[in-house]
Amino acid sequence: MQIVQFPHPTLRRVNKPLKRVDKQLKSMVEEMFDLMYQARGIGLAANQVNLPFRLFVVNLSGEKNQGEEMVFLNPVLSAPKGRAIAEEGCLSFPQLFHPVARPEQIHVQAYDLAGNAIDRTVDGLLARVIQHEFDHLEGVLFIDRIEPGDQKVVEPALEEFALEFSGHRASGKIADDRQIETQLQALESRYC
Ligand code: ZN
Repeated sequence: MQIVQFPHPTLRRVNKPLKRVDKQLKSMVEEMFDLMYQARGIGLAANQVNLPFRLFVVNLSGEKNQGEEMVFLNPVLSAPKGRAIAEEGCLSFPQLFHPVARPEQIHVQAYDLAGNAIDRTVDGLLARVIQHEFDHLEGVLFIDRIEPGDQKVVEPALEEFALEFSGHRASGKIADDRQIETQLQALESRYC
């Protein structure tokens, strides 16, 4: 498992709800946390590790064995309130940061890995991270949330990512779209 970078096709996929959790899925989630800590992130969505599930992980401390590890399965967001602007980055866009406006507060319902219901109103950084990760499950990226007038500011960085990606493709480091789709569909038929 590894973190995929823009413009990997799985980042644009709308992920499917999970219908079952088994030992293997739990170990995938553990690996997601490890990859997130290694990359010094505070949230990571399934799409970013080439998985087709509605699932993301968060630890605002960004450190293993610190803070609270949160796993959100099949999340539903509602009741957005207010508006806040803050700089965001994304582990699928290394070194790219840009301000993004989002609701300041949000209600989230989901399940954790043990099947317990999560039902809480969150604000501040946690609200931002949850909305950013939820977007991933819909195939939406933080660059899509940048003010239209600012899109050209990030354009050169996106072109560089695209160039690097096509290099990985050419060297066979990344499978072609059809192979990726076949792998994802196999996982969906097992878990969704
Ligand atoms: Zn992200």
